[in-house]
Amino acid sequence: MVYIPVIGLEIHAELKTQTKMFCGCLVVDSTIAEANSSVCPVCLGLPGALPVVNKKAVELGLRAALALECTPLQYSIFARKNYFYPDLPKGYQISQYETPLAENGRLLIRTSEGEKTIRIRRVHLEEDTGKLTHINRDVDPCSLVDLNRAGVPLLEIVSEPDMHSVEEARAYAVTLHQLLRTIAVSSGDMEKGAIRFEANVSVMLAGAEELGTRTEIKNLNSFRSMERAIEFEIKRHIAILKSNSKVSQETVGWNESEEVTFSQRSKEEAHDYRYFPEPDLPPLVVDSIWLDSILQNIPELPAMKRMRYASEYHLQDAIIDILLEDPRMAFFFEKVVQHGEPAKEATNWITGVLASEVKIRGLDWDCLPIVPGYFADLITLVRRGDINLLTAKTVLSEMLDTGKQPKVIIEQKGLMQIEDGDVIATAVHSVLQGNPKEVANYLAGKETLAQWFFGQVMAKTGGQASPGVVKRELERQLFRLKNELSD
Ligand code: ADP
Ligand code: MG
Ligand code: ZN
Repeated sequence: MVYIPVIGLEIHAELKTQTKMFCGCLVVDSTIAEANSSVCPVCLGLPGALPVVNKKAVELGLRAALALECTPLQYSIFARKNYFYPDLPKGYQISQYETPLAENGRLLIRTSEGEKTIRIRRVHLEEDTGKLTHINRDVDPCSLVDLNRAGVPLLEIVSEPDMHSVEEARAYAVTLHQLLRTIAVSSGDMEKGAIRFEANVSVMLAGAEELGTRTEIKNLNSFRSMERAIEFEIKRHIAILKSNSKVSQETVGWNESEEVTFSQRSKEEAHDYRYFPEPDLPPLVVDSIWLDSILQNIPELPAMKRMRYASEYHLQDAIIDILLEDPRMAFFFEKVVQHGEPAKEATNWITGVLASEVKIRGLDWDCLPIVPGYFADLITLVRRGDINLLTAKTVLSEMLDTGKQPKVIIEQKGLMQIEDGDVIATAVHSVLQGNPKEVANYLAGKETLAQWFFGQVMAKTGGQASPGVVKRELERQLFRLKNELSD
């Protein structure tokens, strides 16, 4: 019997707004900010405080909805989802239920089997909860509440159960993540929990009419844990069905260290939450002129970018993937190419040396200390042979430190590549003279020493000699020594 996995994903993305969803509190980085430093009566849920909708959050939500080809609803309604939890002081979360912001969209994904469309069921706005930290588990257990995150705008994107493998679920999550970042709707910062997944998983027999009973895996914070958890659930469901038992519909958690899911509670039904329209907020009316302007201002989507990079720059899929991973890196790349650098060269430099510097230095692609034009100049200098690769790295490092033009750095530090044949011949000669033992070994047959001599000459010239000229000169002088030996 062949079981087919069925997967539907719910994705929560923190929206990139300055302030919270229903109050004016600043959205702060909760990994840095002092606990409960950005709170007010509204997000603390104090009696009598009234929510006001954040227009920017609605705009970003609509931008995402349109990018996902959803149909926005002209009226949508905020609803109270009632439940108790210590990180939810109001005793309810303001969300959207029957009438979400938008519905019926789709997202094209790419897998090893080709392209596939995943339908989007709905996109709606809601608010985040606070954060609990449990400390002193063994001695004097205690839970701390930080409400800085309470009320931060979230966009929930719910797919139809259209995915049938872990690979498809991953492709969907990665594509959506890329999209949200590209259109600047969410920072997408997974390490800070800006994007969280919930995976609904069931399995069905091939050819069956109805979907199987699903379980819902909560709070997956990385692509990897999402994949592992889905894989685990698929296997667990199949094992249950094979032993003639039934899967029970429930909510499960993911134990990261043991890589197993564990039952949290039997699956709640919508009516358990006693949803009702939020009496303190009027229906959200989306004006068609506003909607139009949001549509006009959607930046180029990753799928379009991908096509353009392939046709315009003739880049390979794999390198396009790397560029699109960070839209700001892709933006920098385009600026460099606009300065006339060949695309292939530029991508090599940007995804290689520069990306690693950015990572090591903890820089932001948004505000690099160097302008794209200077970076293009650096590549040109190497391409023309004015400096070699080694020097280029030194220059780049200095550029990142000072923001200076590469030409200026090269002049000030005297880093111009040494092409002068006489100078290089002298350097080669003195290296060979100074290392008689190695020369003897070389002449006795240890040919690999040629590489060592090369390194010595480069070091002697401060890394500035033209590698090509050094290589030729070294070969010439070694060849002469060999001849002398055999004479
Ligand atoms: P809730 O989780 O609030 O009950 P829904 O019932 O609308 O919400 O379903 C949420 C998600 O579960 C959707 O992404 C949907 O695609 C997915 N889903 C629904 N039924 C199944 C199923 N039998 N197997 C896998 N996923 C499912
Ligand atoms: Mg759900
Ligand atoms: Zn507040």
